[in-house]
Amino acid sequence: MANVWNYLANEGDYPDLDADSACKHLSAAIQCRTITYLDSSLMEWKEFDLLHMLMREAYPHVFSHAEVKEIDHSLLIRIPGSDPSLRPIMLMGHQDVVPVVAGSEKNWTHPPFSGYIDDTYIWGRGAIDMKDQTIGILEAAEYILAHEQKLERSLILSFGQDEEGIQSGASRIADLLAHCNTKLEFLIDEGDYRITDGSLYGANGEPLRMVHLAEKGYCDLQLVSHSAGGHSSNPFHGTSLAILSEAIHRITQDHHEPKLIPLVRLSFETIADCINAEPLHTFVSNIDAHSAEIAQLCAKDANLFPLVVTTTAPTMIEGSSAQPNVMPQNMRAVINFRILPGETCAGILAHVQDLLKSLPVEVQILPNSANNPSQISRYDSYGVRCLQAVSSRYFVNPKTKKGLRVVPALATGASDARMYEKICDSCLRYSAFVVDDEEDEHGVHGINERVTRRAYLQGIRFMIRLIQSSCMHVQK
Ligand SMILES: [Zn+2]
Repeated sequence: MANVWNYLANEGDYPDLDADSACKHLSAAIQCRTITYLDSSLMEWKEFDLLHMLMREAYPHVFSHAEVKEIDHSLLIRIPGSDPSLRPIMLMGHQDVVPVVAGSEKNWTHPPFSGYIDDTYIWGRGAIDMKDQTIGILEAAEYILAHEQKLERSLILSFGQDEEGIQSGASRIADLLAHCNTKLEFLIDEGDYRITDGSLYGANGEPLRMVHLAEKGYCDLQLVSHSAGGHSSNPFHGTSLAILSEAIHRITQDHHEPKLIPLVRLSFETIADCINAEPLHTFVSNIDAHSAEIAQLCAKDANLFPLVVTTTAPTMIEGSSAQPNVMPQNMRAVINFRILPGETCAGILAHVQDLLKSLPVEVQILPNSANNPSQISRYDSYGVRCLQAVSSRYFVNPKTKKGLRVVPALATGASDARMYEKICDSCLRYSAFVVDDEEDEHGVHGINERVTRRAYLQGIRFMIRLIQSSCMHVQK
């Protein structure tokens, strides 16, 4: 989908929103090098302190109205509403960004932490993932409080410190909220930034917005094959490399029947009336009768296959011999699984152990590398209805002039949102800060990350309207 601004509507809302200062705030936030490293001793916490200082300066109304808790360097900001009987909503972002690959700085049009602003874009690491949303949420809250608009429902903002790493920030914020017996009406976290081309789902000519109601699980399995090594002229029992290769081969060739899980079924059901490509058009006329065929069809498509199978990706192999005539000693490999709802990490481990039981290979789950699939949030919820209403005001099909359909879907990656499922049954992953497909491919975690000013400002309007519609004049 090119030119994402073709889908923006009602950009005239909130005409006194100060666009230049909002863009400058994002630029300043990008200039804070809040980089996440898996080795947390490398984190430069003073950069997070700088970001917090900048937030306090830029958003005086938010920080004077709110109860603010710093949990390590994660931020929990609670703006109290007048009616304590209403459950709060929570808007989420993360403060951290992924590192810039060493040596790639010279390929950036503007230095990655410059926060350079031109007439069209704001450039830099984090422009899409996701200082636009983090700063945009604060802009929206500041706008409302500066206009003396009173909240009935409390609004919670939560900005974790290490979403791109071990996600300890979100987990500690969630524990704190649970400890205070907070129950959320709904939350919105990072989701799909794109206007999705409906032809992916057989709905040609129908641009869509996705809201992820659940995310797949994650599991890294380590395989180790032991060997003393030795001269390669007598590999009588095979080398550790040969054994490990056989193990990886068995795992990757292990066939799992694709499954249409209820949430993916719901995605198709929601857009069934605009699916016009065959054979899907026929299949969705009676999804229950054709669910196996729909799953098979998805499994053959590069974009859809992760939605119908637990994926298996061998990602690491270590320990090969340094010389051609020497057999390797102990070797290890890591296989990354992304697990469909309905399956578990323990189930994957048991299955792989069984598959490899005739081989001298140890199998274990790597520490801190496993989480089961999230719960599936309710679709029939107040949060989804609010989100649909606001989304369809700001993202519109230019041909039909109708709001883009919001489609419930499964996320294949992990986000902070799952940490909150113990206090919220409506964890919605959706991004109002949209990017083109091309930007998405190159920019997120890559070079020349940048967001258009228009899309960023539209995201802020979305957040203002969402807060107004869910926290003010609430109909009980
Ligand atoms: Zn992110």
